[in-house]
Amino acid sequence: MQSGMDRRSALRAVALSVSGAVAGAVGGSLAGVTPALAAAPAADRRSLSAPRAADWKALARGLEGRLIRPGEAAYDSARTLFNPDFDNVRPDAVAYAGNAEDVAECLAFARRHGVPVVSRCGGHAYGGWSAGPGLVVDVSAMNGVSYAEGRARVGAGARLIDVYDRLIAKGVSIPAGTCPTVGVAGLTLGGGIGVVSRKYGLTCDALKSVRIVTADGRVRVCDARREPDLFWASRGGGGGNFGVAVSFEFRAHRTRDVTVFFLSWKMGMAAKAVRAWQGWASGAPDELWSSLQLAQEPTANLRLVGVYLGGRAECLRLLQGLTDRVGDPSTESVRVVSYREAMMIMGGVSGRSIAECHRPGSLPGQNPKGKMKRDRFSAKSHLAYSPLSADGARALAAQVTAPGNHAVLLDALRGAVGRVRPDATAFPHRAALFSVQYVAHGTGRREWLRKAHAAMRPHFGDHAYVNYADPELRDWRRAYYGANAARLARVKAAYDPRGLFRLPQGV
Ligand SMILES: Cc1cc2nc3c(=O)[nH]c(=O)nc-3n(C[C@H](O)[C@H](O)[C@H](O)COP(=O)(O)OP(=O)(O)OC[C@H]3O[C@@H](n4cnc5c(N)ncnc54)[C@H](O)[C@@H]3O)c2cc1C
Repeated sequence: MQSGMDRRSALRAVALSVSGAVAGAVGGSLAGVTPALAAAPAADRRSLSAPRAADWKALARGLEGRLIRPGEAAYDSARTLFNPDFDNVRPDAVAYAGNAEDVAECLAFARRHGVPVVSRCGGHAYGGWSAGPGLVVDVSAMNGVSYAEGRARVGAGARLIDVYDRLIAKGVSIPAGTCPTVGVAGLTLGGGIGVVSRKYGLTCDALKSVRIVTADGRVRVCDARREPDLFWASRGGGGGNFGVAVSFEFRAHRTRDVTVFFLSWKMGMAAKAVRAWQGWASGAPDELWSSLQLAQEPTANLRLVGVYLGGRAECLRLLQGLTDRVGDPSTESVRVVSYREAMMIMGGVSGRSIAECHRPGSLPGQNPKGKMKRDRFSAKSHLAYSPLSADGARALAAQVTAPGNHAVLLDALRGAVGRVRPDATAFPHRAALFSVQYVAHGTGRREWLRKAHAAMRPHFGDHAYVNYADPELRDWRRAYYGANAARLARVKAAYDPRGLFRLPQGV
């Protein structure tokens, strides 16, 4: 990675962010923070007894894992997410489930007492929806990663850095996202876009089976034959909707040395670069993935970052196809690195140890040597189903060059992602050429986001990615799921008929 690129830039560089838009909407009131978690249906509530201290103690005693309650030293660390925007949410308890039975125990407790329950893995939900006022069931302690005969078995609590680290040590990997501390559960259940997706598909495309504890407390193994509807919904239907996943089995691919590249141009060339990039990126060989990024942070920055699953000479030849149309870049770095190093670079953690790539602490998912910081930022998304016109590209450049601290990231799709039918999994955006993320920091971030998103809507349309959930989105059901929304609702009714799992934008 370019030496000047800090972690924050690198994170933006490759995908990601959190929507603090919610936090703005939610202010300080708990009910506002997680309205969908407010409680069981009124009819149910009448017959439920709110838990007393003794009930919580009994729950703690019955768990293999650890239950953390307000007043305990670890409580603040246990309750907080990646984005400090949601620090005002104070759950009754955080349960670090040690196994599927612990999860079932927690769900039984929630049902018995009418306690709102949410599941949590890496805590990166843009809307903060893995935090809530009731019981948080955290799967981080179930984080084993192993490989045998083409299949990666991954505990639902694993962080991406550990998935990469342990699989790459065996010469294999799975297609996944970039941020080291993102949880495999949230990523997979919502889709999972990453730097090798054009070659190997989304994370959910590589999913072969998943073990889920459903609202009734049953542990179900779902795959193409067993519980096929739940398996279908678990591939893009969004985390937190259908049950608590406890483990995944993925198809793994062999790793190899790859070429990483960083090019930059003057911001004045942004509209031209966007026009040239969009056809080039989505039409490139599957082995080539790239992200065109227009940033004002607060200085203007137009850059291309990417990975080519092949050698440097071929990568240079492919890049030439772009630079011929855009013009010579002001800076260019193209180099061959190991697959492991490429994932570290794309995650913005090159040079760090694996231990350092965690949030600091000693709770599950954390590491005493962890150096990963939390980040307060807001985001929105689009999925581009057709190329931007010249007007559209100019409009995008104009939005980015407005004063502030923000970026727009265009991440190439199609390739293997586009060869799956839109209804084959719950992730519907198979025709999209690229994803669009609007990411903003600092004062005025939400205003900029709203304005930029609204300005680009006539050009991009209304599609959005559930893993970049936007609490302000009105027709979110259609935006995230398209024609798959109706089937998702049927799966929800079948597996969670009483609505134990509730999210503000829940299926
Ligand atoms: C810095 C950053 C980088 C990112 N990079 C990428 C990227 O490269 N590619 C990409 O596609 N996305 C990316 N994302 C988005 C990311 O995929 C989503 O935010 C995802 O939901 C995070 O999963 P998590 O487990 O970390 O979060 P959590 O907040 O723990 O969970 C997210 C949702 O899933 C639910 N959930 C969690 N665990 C379970 C479980 N075991 N069973 C059922 N439901 C569960 C939660 O209730 C919540 O609704 C990024 C986000 C951030 C903040």
